[in-house]
Parts: sequence; structure tokens; C-alpha cells
Amino acid sequence: MKRIFLDVDEPLADFVGAANTFYGVDIPKEEITKWELPYGRYGKTHNSFFKDLTEDFWADIPKQPWCDELIDFLESQDGYSVCLLTAPAHNNATGKQRWIRKNLPKFYNEKRYLIGPAKSFCAGPDSILIDDRGKNCDDFIAPPLGFVGGRAIVFPAPWNHRRHCADPIKEVKWLFGLITGRSSLLPEHLQIKGVVR
Ligand SMILES: [Mg+2]
Repeated sequence: MKRIFLDVDEPLADFVGAANTFYGVDIPKEEITKWELPYGRYGKTHNSFFKDLTEDFWADIPKQPWCDELIDFLESQDGYSVCLLTAPAHNNATGKQRWIRKNLPKFYNEKRYLIGPAKSFCAGPDSILIDDRGKNCDDFIAPPLGFVGGRAIVFPAPWNHRRHCADPIKEVKWLFGLITGRSSLLPEHLQIKGVVR
């Protein structure tokens, strides 16, 4: 069985939208074009921005509209098992655990989640990471400590190089097809005719 590690914030949970609501601002996601948020526009510094987010904030972040479709797609891939992989920050691990229990109870009950910052330690020849942070994907493919890496899909978001993708789920599906050799998942003009995968 091969492994898919799936990030939570952005691929599954609308962190940016929830932060806008929490701080009473309206910063369009498209304007966040680099990894660090424009903390000043929230009237915060990096530290105060995260320190002031409550456990309930993390537990109550809305699901992304595509969350269930993404989970269903990945869960339907024969030979792969899916595990959530989310990094905690500023004492929010309990809030993240509550989010998983509430929104994806199957993953909570089956203990298919990891809350930890060392994402690249999950890398390996049979592992795929799906994550909106480009650096996490780079480190998963070529772990900084030199152990054998895995493969990764950068989940499209305005703050990474896939920002121009109109449909993130469509993008993930064909990227998954590309890196796993599952030709039927590719756009029709790229499918290998006569090869059954
Ligand atoms: Mg993320």
C-alpha cells in the first residue's frame, strides 16, 4: 500500500477566509501572493496574528467547497491510503484535532491523521504529499536531512506557482495521474492510447 499525505489548511480548510472573518477584514485571497500573510493589513504582527487565534477558531474553520470531492477522489485510488498531515503552530494542535474530528470523522476515528511540523520525515519512495506550501513539497521531494524523498503535488493557491489554475481539483487529479502513471486521469489529449492503467 502506498501513502498519500494530505495537508489540511487550504486543500481542505479555508484558513484565509476564516482569518478574514475572525479579524473583521476583507482581504481577497488573490491578493495574498506569497507564503507569509500581509499581517499589517490585519493590524497584526506575525506573532500577534497567530497568538490571538483561539482554539475555537482553528476548530471552526469552514471546509473548502471542494473538500469532500478531493477526499473522495484520493480515497478511490486503488493501492493508496490517505493520511492527513498538518503542522501545528502557536499551540493550535488541539484546535486542529477538533477540526478533523468534526469535519472528517472517518479520519479521526480510523486514526489517519498526523499533527506535526516534520512533514519531510513522512517522505519515501511510496509517499506522495499534497500541500499548498511549495517549500513543504520541495522538502518532501528532497528532504533536507538527506534521506530518500517522495513525490509531491503543490495544491494550487495564489501564494504558490500554481496560482493561475482555475480549478484546483481538476489540477490535482491530472497531476496525480501524471506522477502515478494513471493515464486515464490525464486530459484526453495527453492520455496514452491503448494502455490500460
Ligand atoms: Mg496548507
